[in-house]
Amino acid sequence: MPDAVYLRCIDPACEKTSDLSSTAYACGACGALLDVAYDWDRLPVPGTLRFFAERWAGRHQPLDFSGVWRFREFLPFAAPDEMVTIGEGQTVLQSPDPAALGLALRRGHLHFQYEGLNPSGSFKDNGMAAALTMARRLGRRRVACASTGNTSASLAMFASLTRSADDRPMQGIVFVGAGKIAYGKLSQALDHGALTLQIDGDFDACMKRIREAADRLGLYIVNSINPFRLEGQKAIMYRVLEGLGWEPPDWIVVPGGNLGNTSAFGKAFIELAELGLIQRLPQIAVVNAAGANTLSELVTHRGLSWNRGYWEKAAVQSYYDELSASGRTAHTVATAIEIARPVNLPKALRTLEAMDGVVCEVTDEEILDDKARIGRVGFGCEPASAAALAGLRQLLRRGVIDSSARVACVLTGHALKDSAATVAYHTGETMETMAGRRPTDLPPLANRPIRVADDLDAICAAIDARTEKD
Ligand SMILES: *Cc1c(COP(=O)(O)O)cnc(C)c1O
Ligand SMILES: [Zn+2]
Repeated sequence: MPDAVYLRCIDPACEKTSDLSSTAYACGACGALLDVAYDWDRLPVPGTLRFFAERWAGRHQPLDFSGVWRFREFLPFAAPDEMVTIGEGQTVLQSPDPAALGLALRRGHLHFQYEGLNPSGSFKDNGMAAALTMARRLGRRRVACASTGNTSASLAMFASLTRSADDRPMQGIVFVGAGKIAYGKLSQALDHGALTLQIDGDFDACMKRIREAADRLGLYIVNSINPFRLEGQKAIMYRVLEGLGWEPPDWIVVPGGNLGNTSAFGKAFIELAELGLIQRLPQIAVVNAAGANTLSELVTHRGLSWNRGYWEKAAVQSYYDELSASGRTAHTVATAIEIARPVNLPKALRTLEAMDGVVCEVTDEEILDDKARIGRVGFGCEPASAAALAGLRQLLRRGVIDSSARVACVLTGHALKDSAATVAYHTGETMETMAGRRPTDLPPLANRPIRVADDLDAICAAIDARTEKD
């Protein structure tokens, strides 16, 4: 009898399976992406989602505390003693006031799933817990990723805290595009001791090289092409459901870069529906930056769809050929989504079909303004995360999302990841993306520091001029 947990090609015309000892990231027969697949009938699954609320009482146990592994019945590919955890996923659904953000949603209907509160400061930790578990299970020690920054920060942190199956240190290896990474993220990779290779190219170039290097050297890749990483990221949606009393919202809004989250979220809801644990799927809105808009271009403008798995591969290839021919690469202040060739595109198409999704794109200006608004209501996030709010704003304006909807935006990374972008926005100084903007035409929410002489009268006058007396 085959195993109850296995790998399966996502192409419905192929569906070749392999067992978990395989370390391929693509189908050996057709080259498509792989899913971790489960034969649920042979696995113990709780009959109700409320089961997980009760488990929380046992949170002094690391696996019941983990925001990923406390949902382990939904990603049952490892035994409890194999599961790697560093306390990831302690994030909860927050409910900011939509009016304070200038949104026409009802009070209590807007939610932020604030993933910036993860140990390394981004949602990537959800996936890394699962990917490192698999690396350890397979007896691998050299664990590698290409990264726009947060994957490398997360990998570096997990590798420094994890030991291999034979009790030796794991070794993190990260590829970053030279000059393409926010300092907060680079500093984490360096501080946690990962071997950091700055490749003379962008993310797409790093991604290509790491696959080649992994083939030659036998590195274990933990990018989101690794299907186990996506299993960990499903947990973000379990926590959204938990925050809403297990009732799905109407919309999930998420920034789209390599489309790992988009893929994982769809899989999470498809599986819960198959298990009869939810009655309907939320819709999903995936938000691209205008300067890295591959998904938006292909889906919204060229009509690409999953088409039950028979998607038009030639249309994607011809778009990529156009990009190459014109020398166009991704450019956005939201470096975490600065990706022109998203590796999870097919899985993202599948999610869009299952969740009746839409894709939109927002400008860097819109992203930075909404980042500042998010800061004003008390949630610090990095530019890529703010794309979710900017996208929601646009979709409400266009009437795609109804003002009576219940919406959960995923805030993917912490504000301190990219403090340079924040300071540039508020001061008009430094950063190439802000060039050309004079201090006289600062953006609308700029909060410029005031220069004051070292003089008490001047200091008090400055305070009185800009604040109201109690
Ligand atoms: C990685 C990342 C993204 C992009 O997520 P994908 O799953 O690759 O689409 C968005 N925001 C932040 C902060 C990230 O680190
Ligand atoms: Zn295949």
